[in-house]
Amino acid sequence: MAKSQLEFKGYALVDPHNFLDLQVSAIKPKNFTADDVEIAITHCGVCGSDLHTLKQGWGESKLPLIVGHEIIGHAVRVGDNVQDIKVGDRVGVGAAIWSCMSCRQCKEGYENYCPQCLSTYNDEYKDGIVTQGGYATGIRAHQQFVFPIPDAIESKYAASMMCGGLTVFSPLKTNGAGPGKKVGVIGIGGLGHYAVLFARALGAEVYAFTHSKDKMDDAKKLGANHVIDTTNKDFAEPYAGALDIIISTMDATSHLPLKEFLSMLYVHGRFINVGIPDADQPLPTIHAFDLVPNGCYIGGSSVGSKKECMEMLRIAAEKGVKPWIHELPMKDAKKALDAVANNTVRYRYVLTQDLA
Ligand SMILES: [Zn+2]
Ligand SMILES: [Zn+2]
Repeated sequence: MAKSQLEFKGYALVDPHNFLDLQVSAIKPKNFTADDVEIAITHCGVCGSDLHTLKQGWGESKLPLIVGHEIIGHAVRVGDNVQDIKVGDRVGVGAAIWSCMSCRQCKEGYENYCPQCLSTYNDEYKDGIVTQGGYATGIRAHQQFVFPIPDAIESKYAASMMCGGLTVFSPLKTNGAGPGKKVGVIGIGGLGHYAVLFARALGAEVYAFTHSKDKMDDAKKLGANHVIDTTNKDFAEPYAGALDIIISTMDATSHLPLKEFLSMLYVHGRFINVGIPDADQPLPTIHAFDLVPNGCYIGGSSVGSKKECMEMLRIAAEKGVKPWIHELPMKDAKKALDAVANNTVRYRYVLTQDLA
């Protein structure tokens, strides 16, 4: 394994009270092992998680902290045990960076659910090194969390698939989205726009639910077969018992009309939550009456496995799935984060490398 010359630095949060002020700071990368890939980053998407973490919405973060977990770059150093990646390959990294590879979850291909799974940033390896994200020159990751990118997908499009795309592709696939199935998508944002794109790419009929009048046209352009305005209080009635799967991407959930959404599920239909709200936003209270009439299920989902990511990329390449994105140089991360905070992003910002 040849050594690289990568100088690790990135745009870091140093003052938790000033989450938009990111300062260029040096990073101490993890110690390189035979299972690792070192990546020179070219692109990094801006995910809602970045904002939640920077704003300390999920608790106090480590400092200095570099966020970003929709990473694309080139492998510049590859450990001896790495199977499917060689130096020079274009690769991606999503929201998880390491797992134990020996527990039941890891052995059965659910490494994203490993109890010891580490997040790509704001987490800590056993030796105390803090994980740092993709608003940076480079990153080191275990091969199980490094995804080869097909030639047919441009880096600017692949970037936000690493978290935003995979986070919705995994539950769509797990819960059977495909031809003949009706899929509801709640919220047309970064995740929701991907849910519409991938549910259609998988062959399902898509029902998009939004309370933003200005997003209704977008949902149609993205491919939704039906667009439903949730500000109408009787919005659920025409669809009672109709949907097989509902993917909720909302990250303000305390006022979600959960009971109405559950009433739209077909027998054994599934309501899957993929948005992760701030700690003060619980799901609304429901009653057993809301679950019994259609035998429905409520579930969640956390990113996806390497196997699922590779399938997502294959389908995206075959079907020409293209997220709606805006590119900005990394130094303008503040503008992108501002737009995410104000819900003006349509539908993902992708930062491009300007430090290396
Ligand atoms: Zn994310
Ligand atoms: Zn494990």
